[in-house]
Amino acid sequence: MTDVHSEAVRGKNMAAIKGRNTKPEMQVRKMLHKAGFRYRLHVSRLPGKPDLVFPRYKAVIFVQGCFWHQHQCAMLHWPKTRTDWWRQKISANRAHDEAVQDKLRELGWRVLLVWECALKGKNKLPPVQLIGDISNWLRAGSSFAELPAVDA
Ligand SMILES: [Zn+2]
Repeated sequence: MTDVHSEAVRGKNMAAIKGRNTKPEMQVRKMLHKAGFRYRLHVSRLPGKPDLVFPRYKAVIFVQGCFWHQHQCAMLHWPKTRTDWWRQKISANRAHDEAVQDKLRELGWRVLLVWECALKGKNKLPPVQLIGDISNWLRAGSSFAELPAVDA
């Protein structure tokens, strides 16, 4: 029997589940490539297989979905059903993320999180600003940063 999902749809579902090659990630990759940055993708020998790796800058970028990675922003809506199950699952994701970030920093890598809400929705950053912020961080940023920036 034929599968209800076409290959393309299945590929898309898998990408969403694994968080690789998602639309926001592709947007960031495209922007940075255009700006002249070169990077490696999903380097499996590094903790957490970072989405983008910049060996020259000793820096990695994760493009993160706000729901899956529990960003405290307007895009975090809890499902109405099985809410406790979801909360547990997403908290576990968050704990895993933090452990990965710690390991990377111990290895001397700098970590930038680019959240989905920086790329879409009502609070998205203008692309020019986003690429500027990422470029600045790559060239001379701190050991850990997030976009949108966390208000001090
Ligand atoms: Zn967010």
